[in-house]
Amino acid sequence: MDKRMVWLNGKVVPYAEASVPLLNTSFRYGAMVFEGIRAYWNPRTQKQSLFRLDEHAVRLLESIKLMRFEAAYTVEQVRQAVIDYLQALAPQQDMHIRQMVYLDSEEFYYARGPLQMAIAAVPMGRRRGFEQGLHCNISSWRRISDQSVPPRIKCAGNYQNSRLAHIESVESGYDYPLLLNDRGKVSEGGGSAVLLVRHGALVTPPVTADLLESITRETLLELAKEQLGMRVEVREVDRTELLLAEEVLLCGTAEEVMPVASVDHVTIGSGAPGPVTRRLQEELLAAARGDTDRFAGWRTQVAVPQDRRHV
Ligand code: PMP
Repeated sequence: MDKRMVWLNGKVVPYAEASVPLLNTSFRYGAMVFEGIRAYWNPRTQKQSLFRLDEHAVRLLESIKLMRFEAAYTVEQVRQAVIDYLQALAPQQDMHIRQMVYLDSEEFYYARGPLQMAIAAVPMGRRRGFEQGLHCNISSWRRISDQSVPPRIKCAGNYQNSRLAHIESVESGYDYPLLLNDRGKVSEGGGSAVLLVRHGALVTPPVTADLLESITRETLLELAKEQLGMRVEVREVDRTELLLAEEVLLCGTAEEVMPVASVDHVTIGSGAPGPVTRRLQEELLAAARGDTDRFAGWRTQVAVPQDRRHV
């Protein structure tokens, strides 16, 4: 039997009881907005830390606003729901938490409510590629444009773009796609932000390059300045700059910091993860897990009562 427990509209229920009807509008048209959030287990303090929960809550409300859903939730409700769920689940390992808001409707695709909220968590450690790096291609698919749908937020329908790019990438023998926008400039990875090290500076495309407003990207820019003392540049990036970069890296909540070993078969740097990428991996994990006292504002600690630990 599936023992997983999920959160649905304020109650923690068995996974099998949290279903969506076949004719549901969000299911039919991809009209669902969501967040992917990480919780880091610290064995020393015996606490879970939700990483940048406030920023995820704000972005979820921005997704609700841009997709023209009803304004049914406050930032505080969205935050508290994740905290309540994690407290009930009481896991003792790193988790990835998916928070979803969708239409409780069978109307046509322009329905705006009523809304439902669901949260489900799965254990997640470091992802494949974290150590050795990924072999990437420049996708033949272009990143969705802000002139058609809002790329800066997380709506399920947007992910058909990343999905097609990933399938093409893997079928062509690569690990992971990079996408240009419709102006031919570097936008992001297929589900992650992209950064590069060029002439010693950490460079990343601006939020006007049709990318998701990534929370990890913001985090790495801050860590590079504060912890590595690096110059950061937020500016347009050409595809050929990727090939000449000292290092290329991808980042995201699930991916954390992923080295890129090659782009279109061109080796990046030495082909091995570079020193900036390695440092950013360490600094991100330390800040997220609370192995440092710095950046405490990024962590929402959730105490796990002894009697409720069961994951
Ligand atoms: N771009 C896309 C399309 C994504 O799905 C993600 C993952 N949420 C990212 C970038 C990275 O965003 P974040 O750092 O906020 O997880």
